[in-house]
Amino acid sequence: EEDTLTVQMSLTTADLKVPQKIKADSEAALEGLGKKVVVRIDVQAPAQPVGATGAPAMATTAIEGVKHIIAVASGKGGVGKSTVAANLAVALERSGASVGLCDCDLYGPSIGLMFGTQERPLADSESGKIQPVERYGLRLMSMGFLLEDGAPAVLRGPMVTKYTQQFLRQVDWGDLDYLVLDLPPGTGDIQLTIVQTVSLAGALIVTTPQEVALIDARKAVSMFHKVNVPVLGLVENMSYFLCPSDGKRYDIFGTGGGQREADRLGVPLLAQIPIEIITREAGDQGLPVTASAPDSEAAEHFVKLAESLRQVLEKTAAPC
Ligand code: ADP
Repeated sequence: EEDTLTVQMSLTTADLKVPQKIKADSEAALEGLGKKVVVRIDVQAPAQPVGATGAPAMATTAIEGVKHIIAVASGKGGVGKSTVAANLAVALERSGASVGLCDCDLYGPSIGLMFGTQERPLADSESGKIQPVERYGLRLMSMGFLLEDGAPAVLRGPMVTKYTQQFLRQVDWGDLDYLVLDLPPGTGDIQLTIVQTVSLAGALIVTTPQEVALIDARKAVSMFHKVNVPVLGLVENMSYFLCPSDGKRYDIFGTGGGQREADRLGVPLLAQIPIEIITREAGDQGLPVTASAPDSEAAEHFVKLAESLRQVLEKTAAPC
């Protein structure tokens, strides 16, 4: 209208601070136009996610101060999920973001080994919150930091849920651009607790090109779909091996499996990461290759993965 500018938006969120901020920012941006500005926002609550059992799941919420929570998952163990999670976290941090990495594999934590630390996290006496361990600019949390021998042999169902929730809610993650969650393999209690506790920006599924890994990757994708968590893409790890002596490429676990599966699922294949000795050595020596050899070809693959992930996030998810 002549002297009034009206902006109408509609938004789906459970967090009322989001529309308040958008309204204030829009009004500030438009105030210089010399018109009366009216910003209206229709807010709708997000659809209740449905649990794997078909029942409505618990309401999920953001972690205060954390913009994007990314789950790194796999159907099968041993496909390099933790290696991808650790190197992705380092690559995101190297791009200037603030990043946390939470090792949610309570039974087989490996982030302590990959970052060469068994430091014990301290609890803040006032807030009661646990301070994450700082390593190479990343904030880390792992079950391996809490127990003398690294991991509990037995952990009963309710304790699994309790520890998982504590890792997400009781750790003082501070302000983060990305919190990367290294999930255990498969689709068990820990995964379900996570998807029912925090609002994930999405999940990355790590697989090898081999059919036996792809079958289980499909199950992981299906679990995320059931609980309305977007699958941001597949990462094909151990895609091939370039022999250092003759430069020949060997497709140890077959070829094309990741791309075929990504096409079938309608999600992007975000990276094809080769098997490299330097990647395995760096992981075992306590410094992911993206940090220990940042200019290597091995690191370059993880830097590109971080870049692709950022692009997908820009398209699919608004920060919390
Ligand atoms: P997961 O978390 O899926 O169980 P890990 O990340 O622990 O798998 O990897 C299993 C083993 O394979 C580790 O020894 C790791 O160093 C090695 N590994 C993973 N990805 C690569 C790679 N791209 N090149 C060489 N070794 C790798």
